[in-house]
Amino acid sequence: MVVIGSGIGGSSCAALLAKAGLRTLLVEKNPRIGGSCGWYDKRGFRVDYGTHMFTRGDRGPLGVALRRLGAGGEVEFLRVDDLAEVRGPGVQLVLPAQKWRLPQFCVEAVRQLRIPARELPRVVKLFYDLITMSRQEAERWDERTIEEFIFRYTEHPRLFGLLGFLLGLYFILPPWEVSAGEAILCFQAMVRDNRLSYPRGGSGAIPRAFVGALERYGGQVRTRAGCASIEPLARGGYRVGLKDGGEVHARMVVSTTTLGDLVRLVGADRLPEAFTARARTIRKSYVAVQVKVALERRHERSGCIVGGWARDPSFDPWNITREDYRSQFADLDQGRVPKVVPVYCPIPSNFDPALAPPGGQLLTACAVAPCTDVPRPEDTRPHARNDRAFVDGLLGAMNGLMPGCLDGAVFVDTMGTEALAAWIGKSGGPAVSTGQTPSQSGKNRPSVRTPLPGLYVCGDAAGGRGIGTELACDSAMECVAAVLSDVERRVI
Ligand SMILES: Cc1cc2nc3c(=O)[nH]c(=O)nc-3n(C[C@H](O)[C@H](O)[C@H](O)COP(=O)(O)OP(=O)(O)OC[C@H]3O[C@@H](n4cnc5c(N)ncnc54)[C@H](O)[C@@H]3O)c2cc1C
Repeated sequence: MVVIGSGIGGSSCAALLAKAGLRTLLVEKNPRIGGSCGWYDKRGFRVDYGTHMFTRGDRGPLGVALRRLGAGGEVEFLRVDDLAEVRGPGVQLVLPAQKWRLPQFCVEAVRQLRIPARELPRVVKLFYDLITMSRQEAERWDERTIEEFIFRYTEHPRLFGLLGFLLGLYFILPPWEVSAGEAILCFQAMVRDNRLSYPRGGSGAIPRAFVGALERYGGQVRTRAGCASIEPLARGGYRVGLKDGGEVHARMVVSTTTLGDLVRLVGADRLPEAFTARARTIRKSYVAVQVKVALERRHERSGCIVGGWARDPSFDPWNITREDYRSQFADLDQGRVPKVVPVYCPIPSNFDPALAPPGGQLLTACAVAPCTDVPRPEDTRPHARNDRAFVDGLLGAMNGLMPGCLDGAVFVDTMGTEALAAWIGKSGGPAVSTGQTPSQSGKNRPSVRTPLPGLYVCGDAAGGRGIGTELACDSAMECVAAVLSDVERRVI
């Protein structure tokens, strides 16, 4: 068995296959494992390549997979009292870790967000339905959007924005494109588990634990081993060609890159037209530019800052219209920095102080940006995709929402979308390869099985439910179940 890619999807899948007794080799093109949850060390700071929080911690798919591997105790998901803070003009709302503080949070949210009294019963009803809805009922929403769900309760533009943000943020797509069923199930799981957290040792602690388990069960990992081709053999099985000229023969292969990249690795002529056509039309999510700020002293106390900052000071967030939301995403689709820059800034060292030198703090911020295949007209330099305009937008937003956070920094590392795409090896560099739209969620999600026997897909490209890393891990467990069932039924 060869598994391609050592992100959360590939590392958990490889470890579970090895545990099931299959001889498993995990190949990773990068010098280090982890994919989006990879990391680098700089001047005493351990910095995530991506920008992460884990919505369900040890209670979601990541915890399930770790426990199945006997590695449940190896990753400690940490919480802080003030988990997250929402910031914007006139708004500073602290989301607490403790359930008993939530009523106070709700009252404060209604007050600060100026929720009109006549809309309040509708909002309460929406949350009641959200939380009490059965799984079957939620799945009936799979093929409709968050927008349709919200409009059942309210059409108030500002509330639409807030609720769309709350339910759709993690899918990195607008509320009129995200599957409501997927969003409802993710929201329910997040509330039920109440485990929004961040792991000790950084995001990389999770794939490190999976790869550790893989090796304990006799599997192997090879880094700097980029896969260049997957050739089906006439006698069954595959020849996996590596970029360094080497090759590996395997009865089965699992890919964790995008479906489009898989088609390129296998060759379109070797796959049915229906599969290649679907791969071509997959809607991927947007991605983000990132800024990592290393500070000598603590600047923020919460676990994460989220909020929006208007580039144009005349913009009035209290009278926002539906067209304003549409134009935010239309800007992204045209490669332009939107008028309001949304910021998502986990602060890993507030969970695990060992991720920074004593007394220091690490801010890891990101702001949504289009994938690399969208030209950037605001950047006229030859290498336009360095995303200068988007990074400048994010730096401005950080200064606006966390004044002074960049002053006297030990270092400020910026990362454009090209750099992230090169690291994760997925064409266009999406945050989620197969976006969770109505036609790509639930029963409409691409299968972890491909039309070629013995060739599978997992990670955020196929199968599974959930948010980002949890989706990738859920899909890995689904993929392992499919492989083992096919082996048992001698399909391969
Ligand atoms: C900016 C940003 C913020 C995010 N925020 C969150 C968050 O807060 N919470 C959350 O849960 N999720 C978040 N996500 C999403 C989450 O990171 C991903 O959905 C998830 O980690 C994907 O895991 P994966 O295993 O599918 O792929 P990846 O982690 O992308 O791993 C793919 C691996 O495959 C390797 N690879 C690719 N091609 C080849 C090849 N040809 N040969 C060998 N190796 C190859 C790559 O090098 C990489 O290591 C975020 C993503 C981004 C980009």
